Amino acid sequence: MEELPNGFTGFSKRDPNFESASDAIRKAAIEQQGARPDAASAARAARNGWQAAQDALERLPRLDQMGSLWGGSRKANGSGFEQFVNRIEFNGVADNRFDLEAISNIPESDRRWAWVQVDRSAIRHNVMALRNHVGPGVKIMAVVKADGYGHGAVECAKTAFNSGADYLGVATLDEAIELREALINAPVLILSEPPVEAIPLLLAYKVMPSVYTPEFAIRYAEAADMMGQRAPFHLALNTGMNRIGVRYDEAVAFMQHIGFHRALDIKGTFTHFATADAADTLDFEMQLRRFTEAIANLKAAGIDPGIVHAANSAATIRYPETHFGMVRVGIAMYGYHPCPLTRGLIDLKPAMTVRARVTNVNAVPMSEGVSYGLHYRSPGSVKICTVPLGYADGLWRGLSGRIDFIVGGVPFRQVGSICMDQCMFEVNMRTAASRKFLTPQIGDEVIIVGEQDGIAVTMDELAELMGTISYEVTVRFGERLPKVYV
Ligand SMILES: *Cc1c(COP(=O)(O)O)cnc(C)c1O
Repeated sequence: MEELPNGFTGFSKRDPNFESASDAIRKAAIEQQGARPDAASAARAARNGWQAAQDALERLPRLDQMGSLWGGSRKANGSGFEQFVNRIEFNGVADNRFDLEAISNIPESDRRWAWVQVDRSAIRHNVMALRNHVGPGVKIMAVVKADGYGHGAVECAKTAFNSGADYLGVATLDEAIELREALINAPVLILSEPPVEAIPLLLAYKVMPSVYTPEFAIRYAEAADMMGQRAPFHLALNTGMNRIGVRYDEAVAFMQHIGFHRALDIKGTFTHFATADAADTLDFEMQLRRFTEAIANLKAAGIDPGIVHAANSAATIRYPETHFGMVRVGIAMYGYHPCPLTRGLIDLKPAMTVRARVTNVNAVPMSEGVSYGLHYRSPGSVKICTVPLGYADGLWRGLSGRIDFIVGGVPFRQVGSICMDQCMFEVNMRTAASRKFLTPQIGDEVIIVGEQDGIAVTMDELAELMGTISYEVTVRFGERLPKVYV
């Protein structure tokens, strides 16, 4: 293997609560397009003052009017965009002879020969397997944060729902708003406490926050009261992970402190395990004990905790005693095992494959190099094939020269440094002749992650090579690559 010119050191921190930068980008894009002017001005107004925020709230479009607002960016921008394009002088021509509406139907996988394929029947299979595992009496929260772990939040939420999920979980307010704007009307819980300034958006879009500070609880209740609404929330308890939440032994005091406010409406109480995926169970058992104790204390104080939930995928699969009223499943719903310990306990099907087509085929003479740094040298008698995806698409540069792509059921070594948007693989024509695969051609389909004729490259293998977990791998692939749902 060649030496890697970058300083890639890998990651050892395992934080499943990954939040992507795409939220920020999406927000910026939305503001720029003006596709959601009222929501954006509500957010701005919220920063400028409480009364202004209330006024902006009144002007928010009703949910049932939002379909047309989001019906397609061209439509939303109307003829203004048409005029804008017509002012661009291109090769001496300014007027536009194309029907932008018609050509917008050219599929994304024909605009760029690299894409993520998401298999909805796999998600359906996984939700049903999880349903089978927890039984009919336990609710299932489909966790679709970070754009559904890169699989596309809206499509995954709809598929999960049609397959028997009851609740949706997201990490941020904008992720919740995205679901509402796709006209999804399921209960949505944000698995964190948003800034106080965002409260009007919570109430307008009817999404529940997790709550653990008295300041937020009271401002939320006051705002709801002003609008003549209730303020539904889930109480977050810290039982040992020390990320967010009211400490388990202060749960009753916290609820009594904020409990005077009539609008507050506790819909659920939850905690999160730090080590449900670990072989050692001591810390897990302590968290579970603390949580059970806190729930009992709340009940003894006459406080109804609502839906009690604690289990992530690992706990859902490994520990039935953590199911309570609801389980929160992310990674398992997308078809990946949260840890090797869950293999054999449940049958999961990976929903994401990463695919590309060959964009160039090059016979590289002996000893000539390939890609930045020319670290790979041709042994002669090879064809170097290019595919149009790179590290900006989630194919980490640190994987350079360490992975195989699959063409026609045969693995071929990726060679040379992975570039930002492209990378190369090698077809050795001496050995290829003895195999099923003959001459590579521009347009040949390449499997970057997935399975073909019994040959497989998995998310877990890439994660292992990168020193991370499958969560981070799928999230990255989902950020820029177009998604094709099958
Ligand atoms: C991300 C997350 C989950 C889902 O975890 P998985 O391991 O993907 O099942 C559940 N609960 C909380 C609070 C989370 O942040």
